[in-house]
Amino acid sequence: MRDSCCQSNFDSSDLNHRQRIVLIIVLVINAATFFMMVLAAKISGSTSLLSGALDNLGDALTYAISLIVIGAAPFVKARVAMFKGLLILSSALVVAYVIILRLLQPETPVFETMGLAAIVNLVANLSCLLLLTPYRNKDVNMSSAWECSRNDVAEGLAVIVAAIAVWVFNSGWPDLVIAFGLLIMFSRSAIRVFQAAWHDLHLTTDKTKVDA
Ligand SMILES: [Zn+2]
Repeated sequence: MRDSCCQSNFDSSDLNHRQRIVLIIVLVINAATFFMMVLAAKISGSTSLLSGALDNLGDALTYAISLIVIGAAPFVKARVAMFKGLLILSSALVVAYVIILRLLQPETPVFETMGLAAIVNLVANLSCLLLLTPYRNKDVNMSSAWECSRNDVAEGLAVIVAAIAVWVFNSGWPDLVIAFGLLIMFSRSAIRVFQAAWHDLHLTTDKTKVDA
């Protein structure tokens, strides 16, 4: 299975000024959508919104780190990547906990709030995709950001499907199913990033020992 998202940090030092500005805008959109989704998840009682928010958090962190650690030493980059992996995995545990709570105490999310937030999220994902599209073939990092953004649109659609199914069946089950699916997909890519960072960290510390 492919990565659900762009969880691996990249080196943005080769990017030009305009590409960097596009990444900053995409970062801000993802961060804003993350807070909106968490708030809407709380108000509506939707778990799939919360699961989807994890992805926005991961993306915002990925772009932030890629822009901030330009030119940093490899061991610094590996440490920052590991910190990001830990942060995302602990957030994933919180979402898993909420899913279990909902399984024990089923509740039908408020369809209107859930649907509205899902639409805003999809529009945000589509805007990121459109912003990145002119650069998709210009640079390997930009094209990977574009691909992630395309996956985000698919994930955004999944949350909308969940909202529609909640309305049609008047039940919380579709919400939990989509929430669980997104969580699995997302945790898999987060674990992969964490393993890669762990590997890099050992490689760089070993190298430092050899160099010393
Ligand atoms: Zn994403």
